[in-house]
Amino acid sequence: TGKKRVCIVGSGNWGSAIAKIVGDNVVKHSTVFEDTVKMYVFEELVNGRKLTEIINEDHENVKYLPGHKLPANIIAVPDVLGTAKDADILIFVLPHQFIKHTCKPLVGNMKPGAFGLSLIKGFDVAEGGGIELISSIINKALNIPCNVLMGANLAGEIADGNFSETTIGARDPEQGRLLHKLIQTDNFRVVVVRDVETVELCGALKNVVAVGAGFIDGLKLGDNTKAAVIRLGLMEMVRFTQEFFNKDTEISTFLESCGVADLITTCYGGRNRKVSEAFVRTGKPFEELEKEMLNGQRLQGPMTAAEVNFMLKGRGLEDKFPLFTAVHRISINELKPKQLIDAIRNHPEHI
Ligand code: NAD
Ligand code: 13P
Ligand code: CA
Repeated sequence: TGKKRVCIVGSGNWGSAIAKIVGDNVVKHSTVFEDTVKMYVFEELVNGRKLTEIINEDHENVKYLPGHKLPANIIAVPDVLGTAKDADILIFVLPHQFIKHTCKPLVGNMKPGAFGLSLIKGFDVAEGGGIELISSIINKALNIPCNVLMGANLAGEIADGNFSETTIGARDPEQGRLLHKLIQTDNFRVVVVRDVETVELCGALKNVVAVGAGFIDGLKLGDNTKAAVIRLGLMEMVRFTQEFFNKDTEISTFLESCGVADLITTCYGGRNRKVSEAFVRTGKPFEELEKEMLNGQRLQGPMTAAEVNFMLKGRGLEDKFPLFTAVHRISINELKPKQLIDAIRNHPEHI
């Protein structure tokens, strides 16, 4: 077996924060892991310098996680195949819309026995419409098992080292044990569960709820209304999982960090919330606000709402998921933000 080589595919806000943890942990557990971690960086120029060079010379991702030093054993690589071909454990952490083309050069080139860990919150559009889990895209394209990590994990706070929890979904207990070792620190506490699909669904769906919470903030309706949106959103997350993925899904998974805790943190402190509040205040479209407000970081919520809506429409279920439906229709200007309340007033929860 030998030591495991870890790589990170992605280097945005969350990718850079997790690199701090992983870079330190491979050294701490040096009998288990190789001590160099390559990180795939989508190359760009920042103030006239290549971002890979900045990271390798100054050990800081000045664009996506400014103000935090990365461990020196994190090596930025502009080529995804060069990053990943000799890795035993691949951590995927990109905005979900980039996963398919980023995986392409890796197809057929994985080391035997390699496995993945996806930190990506979102879905992709399946062929013929409908949604596909990111872990399943990775699994099918690269022919490796893919576990997931989702939780109440605003990247900046993790990079600051503040205490928080996260949830890893792993089917294979040996992979779960290795990932626990790779990720857990004194202030980043990991719970491993077997219900991989539900963990991933929580991570993707909470971004739709966060858009709704941002709308409520934009409308200045206060904390009770926002709490109602968060709770109704949670109920729709459970029902959606039951309807489309697993009717016997375990409610306990929704009580892990990936469920209620991530809803709370994202609906108060996340980018989806922030930009959705501005959507109501300014009336500008999401694409414009994303560019203006996020300096290259990406929103996952509105796109996920559209993908979810496609599924609901297909089964004639829009009325049974009034919050998800209204969030989507407001995002594409089919409804006005203030109509969100009319949409959820007669929620199936209330009748
Ligand atoms: P981000 O929002 O910082 O996105 C920017 C990244 O996308 C940069 O690394 C950029 O180089 C890359 N990129 C831009 N165009 C690209 C292209 N064409 N191909 C490939 N890459 C390209 O990213 P993030 O915050 O690291 O988010 C990654 C995932 O992690 C998302 O699914 C997000 O929901 C999830 N997540 C984020 C946070 C957070 O607090 N930031 C926390 C938990 C989970
Ligand atoms: P945002 O993408 O809305 O910032 O949410 C980040 C997150 O997933 C925190 O757990
Ligand atoms: Ca369980």
